[in-house]
Amino acid sequence: MGAPPILTPEQRAAALAKAAQSRKRRAEVKIKIKRGEFSIDTVLEIAANEEAVAKMRVRELLEALTGVGKVRASSLMERLKISPTRRIGGLGRHQIKELRNEFMKSSHAITPGKLLVLSGPGGVGKSTVASRLRASGDFWVSVSATTRSPRTNEHDGVDYFFITDEEFSRMVRSDEFLEWAEFAGNRYGTPSGPVEEALLAGRNVLLEIEIDGAKQVKAHLPQSVLVFLEPPTWEELVSRLEGRGTDSPDRRAERLQLAQDELAAASFFDVVIVNDQVERVVEQLIGLTS
Ligand code: 5GP
Repeated sequence: MGAPPILTPEQRAAALAKAAQSRKRRAEVKIKIKRGEFSIDTVLEIAANEEAVAKMRVRELLEALTGVGKVRASSLMERLKISPTRRIGGLGRHQIKELRNEFMKSSHAITPGKLLVLSGPGGVGKSTVASRLRASGDFWVSVSATTRSPRTNEHDGVDYFFITDEEFSRMVRSDEFLEWAEFAGNRYGTPSGPVEEALLAGRNVLLEIEIDGAKQVKAHLPQSVLVFLEPPTWEELVSRLEGRGTDSPDRRAERLQLAQDELAAASFFDVVIVNDQVERVVEQLIGLTS
């Protein structure tokens, strides 16, 4: 490193004023973190655009968070291999992701939203419920990525992100999905970034996904609430399948097996709601967030 530049008195005064301004800004941000007005995610976002905040030490950011003292901050930094003097601006992409995950999973997350996962057998009316919830404004509804082709009434970025098989594989490799699964010959996945952001911003999030994906979400985020939507006439369905004369015995056994698998999955879920009336289901789901 060369010798520091020699500053004129005016330059020196300007540099000191700038440093004071930056310190003031960092102090303001810390107060907002302490009051719970800024989540860790918000601060990381601000730091990406503001030099003064990028210069805040990671340790200071963590210690300002509710429920995180010096001890937890330093053990966390050690675990995530963040050096004790590291500034926010010096964090690597991977470290940022891990920090976000940490606070999403932890009970110390600031006013986090609830994550509801809606699953159930095909044709039970999940997507109608999801669109009602989106319209209610009480939930941010995740948009999945899929390799299946759009249906005539579907729009890219609204119903799904319709992507190629290659793009899906790339997203799997770079760990961009919270969960993903194969269903009827196509792949479906929930992009994790927007879900994390919404939760950290305190929004309630709804995922409308199939059963395997729901199990993966629970494994990653135990605080998520898995909701199984059941058809109102489940027993009838089973007895109908059993008594059906038109299906071959093999076909009947196959359908019964599927029904049984789906019933078994229901016991894995936190809540089972019978879809007898959409309005009632929507009310119950909103009730689960309070
Ligand atoms: P469809 O092709 O009829 O829109 O959806 C087929 C199935 O995929 C539905 O059960 C739907 O809930 C599920 N699905 C939609 N998006 C996702 C996702 O991101 N992950 C998983 N695991 N399933 C999804």
